[in-house]
Amino acid sequence: MGSITLKQVRKAFGDVEVIPGVDLEIREGEFVVFVGPSGCGKSTLLRLIAGLEDVTSGQIMIDGRDVTHAPPSQRKLAMVFQSYALYPHMSVRKNIAFPLKMAGMAADEQERRVKHAAGILNLTDYLDRRPGQLSGGQRQRVAIGRAIVREPSAFLFDEPLSNLDAALRVNMRVEISELHKKLATTMVYVTHDQVEAMTMADKIVVLRAGRVEQVGSPLELYRKPANRFVAGFIGSPN
Ligand code: ADP
Ligand code: MG
Repeated sequence: MGSITLKQVRKAFGDVEVIPGVDLEIREGEFVVFVGPSGCGKSTLLRLIAGLEDVTSGQIMIDGRDVTHAPPSQRKLAMVFQSYALYPHMSVRKNIAFPLKMAGMAADEQERRVKHAAGILNLTDYLDRRPGQLSGGQRQRVAIGRAIVREPSAFLFDEPLSNLDAALRVNMRVEISELHKKLATTMVYVTHDQVEAMTMADKIVVLRAGRVEQVGSPLELYRKPANRFVAGFIGSPN
């Protein structure tokens, strides 16, 4: 579970072509990072995969199923937003359970899944608190918990650490990498931060103006950057 294939995926907003045509293969269980400068189309590409935007043309497959025109709810993906997307007036438990409640899941199954996610994320003792009573890192974990309870085929992260301070960002990188090891679920992670890409990814996709410049492991990109843009962006000596 969790393979994602893009075939000639194109996206235009009006006359502006933001993604001119992307082919991409994401394998089951991979940690894939989309990296590139601000405005290069990382979020748009992630939103196309999530079904939050409609492709202009092309095809998207998840687990071998054509989901090009399927709504987000039928894609079995969970998007992790920044921690400020939590509901301040709700307890941690209710924040995590929120998507399950919306889906009409039975209360005891909701509670089972919340407890399981809280255990994985070390939030068991914080379920009755409000987000305002948590640290920044704990809030980010609640946002991740809300994705875990949906038991998705893949997690999609859009710059989840960008509003955290530098020290916390380093901790959360490690935590998300550990989570990936524990769950062995596909993760697609968007960032403009080269260090995040190089330290977290199994596979890096370097984007520039909506085009894929190179796909490879951090080591491959570092050793054999396809061009100067990749070399400059990755910080390779070549
Ligand atoms: P990134 O996440 O890499 O910073 P985005 O995917 O957010 O880049 O944006 C890529 C380009 O698409 C930008 O030029 C942005 O202004 C444009 N764009 C994104 N969303 C919309 C939209 N809903 N309508 C029009 N233009 C958009
Ligand atoms: Mg973005």
